[in-house]
Amino acid sequence: MSSSAQIGVTGLAVMGRNLARNFARNGYTVAVHNRTAARMHALVEEFGHEGSFVAAETAKEFVAALERPRRLVIMVKAGEPTDAVIEEFAPLLEPGDMIIDGGNAHFADTRRRERALREQGIHFVGTGVSGGEEGALNGPSIMPGGSKESYESLGPMLEKISAKAADGAPCVTHVGPDGAGHFVKMVHNGIEYADMQLIGEAYQLLRDVAGYEPAQIADIFRTWNTGRLDSYLIEITAEVLSHVDAATGKPFVDVVVDQAEQKGTGRWTVQIALDLGVPVSGIAEAVFARSLSGHAALREASRRLAGPTAAPLGEAEAAAFADRVEQALYASKIVSYTQGFHEVAAGSDEYGWDIDLGAVSAIWRGGCIIRAAFLDRIRAAYDARADLPSLLSDETFAREIADAQDDWREVLIAATRQGVPTPGFAAALAYYDALRAERLPAALTQGQRDYFGAHTYRRTDRDGSFHTLWGDDR
Ligand code: NAP
Repeated sequence: MSSSAQIGVTGLAVMGRNLARNFARNGYTVAVHNRTAARMHALVEEFGHEGSFVAAETAKEFVAALERPRRLVIMVKAGEPTDAVIEEFAPLLEPGDMIIDGGNAHFADTRRRERALREQGIHFVGTGVSGGEEGALNGPSIMPGGSKESYESLGPMLEKISAKAADGAPCVTHVGPDGAGHFVKMVHNGIEYADMQLIGEAYQLLRDVAGYEPAQIADIFRTWNTGRLDSYLIEITAEVLSHVDAATGKPFVDVVVDQAEQKGTGRWTVQIALDLGVPVSGIAEAVFARSLSGHAALREASRRLAGPTAAPLGEAEAAAFADRVEQALYASKIVSYTQGFHEVAAGSDEYGWDIDLGAVSAIWRGGCIIRAAFLDRIRAAYDARADLPSLLSDETFAREIADAQDDWREVLIAATRQGVPTPGFAAALAYYDALRAERLPAALTQGQRDYFGAHTYRRTDRDGSFHTLWGDDR
């Protein structure tokens, strides 16, 4: 077999298959391999005409098909399967070769794998890939970590197959060393959870408080999609809401069981944020909201708890309320991104990754699930000032939130009065108000800690650490 393939993909389920086709459609010769060879043969049979594929039944054939230095993409289930595939291939590789893990790996696993393979002289490039199966085929947003050297070899190929932003820029950049790419992909997914939760809350408010039907709400989302909320998630929300179930003739959203599932990247985002001490309350509420929705027995047992039932508004009031919900959604979205970017910055500091936040927002503008017109402005904010303490410190975003906040508060008042749960909107506003507060009750918390545990406190008027002798009446 001649070593003619510029890249190889192993793991040919939906993502790997489409990524391999994307490379082939862009003129690369692609070696393809899958644990179960039938999947590989099916790909070559069905899509062989799209470009140049080299079919490899065994790991040895696969490695032999690749030109040197070898570029080998792994697109298998994250976790143990990834380790199994690395163990199978690494002994067949040579110094300078590259293993690109495009699965949703935990960044700590990526750091471990990168360290181990570096000792063998192999570049391990943990790479976040977003955009689902459609993105993998037509252009995903790609977040590679690993060494700079590997990016020099891989970058041009990834740029070719990636999504392009509206200004034509490829949605890929070298995010940083070792696990930086997978870390950024993890936070991307955390932000995605928050975005989806906020959209869900907006929908619920439009339905229960404004009294709109799903098809009407779809139209409202379509209108919002022409403005500052212009994004993939708003666009598909309108599609889902206008979809009618063929079997029953009911709105599709009404025949779906209201228990949200999750694969884990949102949970990781929150777990790591806790470790790093970064308040990502909006993302956490989104993860908890999915978790709560899944507790069917608990919900059933609690259904008769006392509380108001939403009474829909009249037509004129409903339209005004919908405008307010748009403001609340936009303001809460700014807060979610603020929290997500804070986590990226904290991860970058902790692991010495030197991540360029402007570049990250730039590569999220196309291809990925959270792609949105809004990210162009986040990029502008970080490009103007790379050390921006928070997105909320950017004048434009601060002004927009200032303009939105009266409506944001009104929406939350209505939601609270009518008993519509809005944990995402509420957490975002609480975060905003906590940041603006002159004094926080943390001072009281410190007093309590000193009282029961002699944990000491700092004073506003003097440097040092203090402890009060609280007396013997405790
Ligand atoms: P998947 O269902 O996560 O994984 C199936 C693939 O993994 C198959 O090719 C399977 O081979 C292979 N595999 C499983 N265990 C293996 C083992 N022990 N040894 C060798 N191969 C093994 O597929 P996917 O949905 O295409 O996702 C692939 C990766 O991309 C995952 O890490 C996923 O998290 C990530 N990802 C997915 C999406 C998405 O939208 N689906 C988006 C971004 C990233 P067999 O055919 O032999 O079973």
